[in-house]
Amino acid sequence: MKKAAIISVGNELLNGNTVDTNSNWLESRLLTISIPVVYSCAIIDDIEEIKNAIEYASRKANIILITGGLGPTDDDITRDGIAKFLNVELEYHPEIFKKMENFFLSINRPLVEKNRIQAYLPVGASEIENDLGTAPGIFYQDDQKIIASFPGVPSEMKQMFDKSIFPKLQSLSADNLVIKKIKCIGAGESMIAEMIGDMMDRGRNPLINCTVDHGIITLHIIARAKDRKIAEDMAVKDTEKLQHILGPLIFGYDNQTIAEVAGQKLAEKKKTLATAESCTGGQISKMITDVPGSSRYFTYGWITYSNEAKISQLGVDKKLIEQFGAVSSEVATAMAIGARKKAGSDYAIAVTGIAGPEGGTEQKPVGLVYISIVGPNSVKTEKFLFGSRNRDFIRLRTCQVALNLLRLNLSI
Ligand code: AMP
Ligand code: MG
Repeated sequence: MKKAAIISVGNELLNGNTVDTNSNWLESRLLTISIPVVYSCAIIDDIEEIKNAIEYASRKANIILITGGLGPTDDDITRDGIAKFLNVELEYHPEIFKKMENFFLSINRPLVEKNRIQAYLPVGASEIENDLGTAPGIFYQDDQKIIASFPGVPSEMKQMFDKSIFPKLQSLSADNLVIKKIKCIGAGESMIAEMIGDMMDRGRNPLINCTVDHGIITLHIIARAKDRKIAEDMAVKDTEKLQHILGPLIFGYDNQTIAEVAGQKLAEKKKTLATAESCTGGQISKMITDVPGSSRYFTYGWITYSNEAKISQLGVDKKLIEQFGAVSSEVATAMAIGARKKAGSDYAIAVTGIAGPEGGTEQKPVGLVYISIVGPNSVKTEKFLFGSRNRDFIRLRTCQVALNLLRLNLSI
């Protein structure tokens, strides 16, 4: 049976400077080909530590993936650690150096003598090509094990792994896993679990796992079969079943965001959107414009934090604020109507609320938020109580829920 171990190399991973995201990414890639990761560790830039870690990992696993420490500087010593473990010398590869020269030419930067070290590989190892940078990876295989070593830069590591190593490992794996994600909003985890019932039974194939992040429930459908096509069909069948059960609670699939889905709907309908934000301070606009191509539908965004700004920028009636307060259904509605009018857009989202930790009262507690969506034929304002949790939570929940209300409005 194939088992993998991951070694993350770099001082920065052990002094609080960098979060090790590489191992996490590799683990999820290995999961898709049913290769369990049985050991993972982070170690400092030290030849002896690297050698020891490979030694230990090789007792537990037959596929050892290493990231970090392949650059040109003196702290990049993973190649030496691998050579020490294999008990071999480093060997110069002029063809790797030539490629490096060409790479530097292509980015119009001088190659310095320090780079030459990257053309050295342990004897018996071969190069894993790096299309995005200068540091080649190192590949070694014998009867017992595979060692694949990548630079630490996540984008380079991912590209190299997917292009050169993933297909190799896939061919070694007995099972194929197909993972589909279904993303829901508008009901809690327990409610969704109750709705889908015994589909969540442990030991079922496909297995359905559930994760929660700021009110977004993700169902992971993990289908396992010898044949990839069969696993895919199983995952599709379960997806259809869940679509039937969960209906509009599902907003998207795999890595889709609500902003992306709502944006797609706006683009399909050739409609435009403006935002007027108070407690979210521009975060809704940020999430909308995080999506490439959002200029097709996003027109204006206002951050109207003060009463004066709500009045002067959005035309909110001063009397409304005096009578109902800035955090009220009336003001949220007026903000959305004002933004839509000023921007000349088809839709507008407005939010006003109390994100805390201070500023709450008995009538208007922390976590109280009003969200208004105004469209060509509708004005809809809703009150939410997100609870007195932390400020970030309340703000992000507000953004998600506002974008979801827009999505639902556009689905009608
Ligand atoms: P290196 O290949 O060791 O020179 O690493 C280059 C850069 O990649 C480091 O400075 C970090 O910013 C980043 N990096 C290294 N290892 C990891 C890791 N395990 N997870 C995320 N980023 C990393
Ligand atoms: Mg490093």
